[in-house]
Amino acid sequence: MNAVVKLPAIDGQDTPDDTPADMQAALKDALFHPMGSPGVYARTWLYEDVVERLGAFVTEQRETGTEILRFPPVMSRRDLERHGYLKSFPNLLGCVCALHGTDAEITAAADRHEKGGEWTAALSPSDLVLSPAACYPVYPIVAARGRLPRGGSLFDVACDCFRHEPSPHLDRLQSFRMREYVCVGTPDDVNNFRGRWVVRAQDMAAALALPCRVDHASDPFFGRVGQVKAVSQLQQALKFELLVPLHSVDKPTACMSFNCHRDHFGTTWGIEDAEGQVAHTGCVAFGMDRLAVALFWTHGLDTARWPASARAALGL
Ligand code: 5GP
Ligand code: ZN
Repeated sequence: MNAVVKLPAIDGQDTPDDTPADMQAALKDALFHPMGSPGVYARTWLYEDVVERLGAFVTEQRETGTEILRFPPVMSRRDLERHGYLKSFPNLLGCVCALHGTDAEITAAADRHEKGGEWTAALSPSDLVLSPAACYPVYPIVAARGRLPRGGSLFDVACDCFRHEPSPHLDRLQSFRMREYVCVGTPDDVNNFRGRWVVRAQDMAAALALPCRVDHASDPFFGRVGQVKAVSQLQQALKFELLVPLHSVDKPTACMSFNCHRDHFGTTWGIEDAEGQVAHTGCVAFGMDRLAVALFWTHGLDTARWPASARAALGL
């Protein structure tokens, strides 16, 4: 792939936003209703219909032999801790908290709110976190099955994801839908899987008439140590993104990502390939909300006037 290594831009600090503010406001009005927190929206049918059609389009591309699993928006806190999430993205994590204790203690906390006081101090963490990505819950499930079949295993997974990144921008939500295809197998299985999807995803974007390029990328690892991790991830070409110019050509938005985790999850969960070697894993993630926003941003609010190929791909 002729992708150029490019360090990711820091939000809002490099290039100006070329999209007129009134256009972004018009998109927001037509697609979403505010729900009292930035990046958390009720969705209109105009928008949701496109998300559903996009889902069907992604399903059409599914490879044969892929097992389908759908996850709730929460997952085990212990499992996410074991994944090492707190070492990489502690700033993005949302943890489910609840009022634990006796009836009297719970009543006292709730009463504090009624009297205009602060009730949240009485909260304590439950055993759940909000899932920050769709593929995390699949690895312990695979591990529990024992050795992988020859050729590895493929999964189609999805869930509502949460990342604590409040933003006024339509392409940066705190709560968004992610669909992923996941491969668990040998290093070759995973490399071939990712190679196939990088090509297929660009065909999908072409059908949707979305201008795009695929480039090396890194995750937004937290803190100073995170910067070192990001450089290493770039150098090892572990992550690619399909980027669509929304705000500007220089600062495009990642709508899909193609990730190679090497043996990280295989080692963490003790997953073995058919030969008994530590399994490698990889995933291709489709940001369903990012893709839908990108379609409206690029083609406008009138879906009847979208390019013919996009209308055909979405069955419009
Ligand atoms: P990754 O795990 O690579 O960071 O995210 C996978 C995909 O989820 C991204 O390519 C993007 O499409 C989507 N995604 C990530 N962060 C956000 C976000 O803040 N808002 C929305 N709408 N989608 C996101
Ligand atoms: Zn993933």
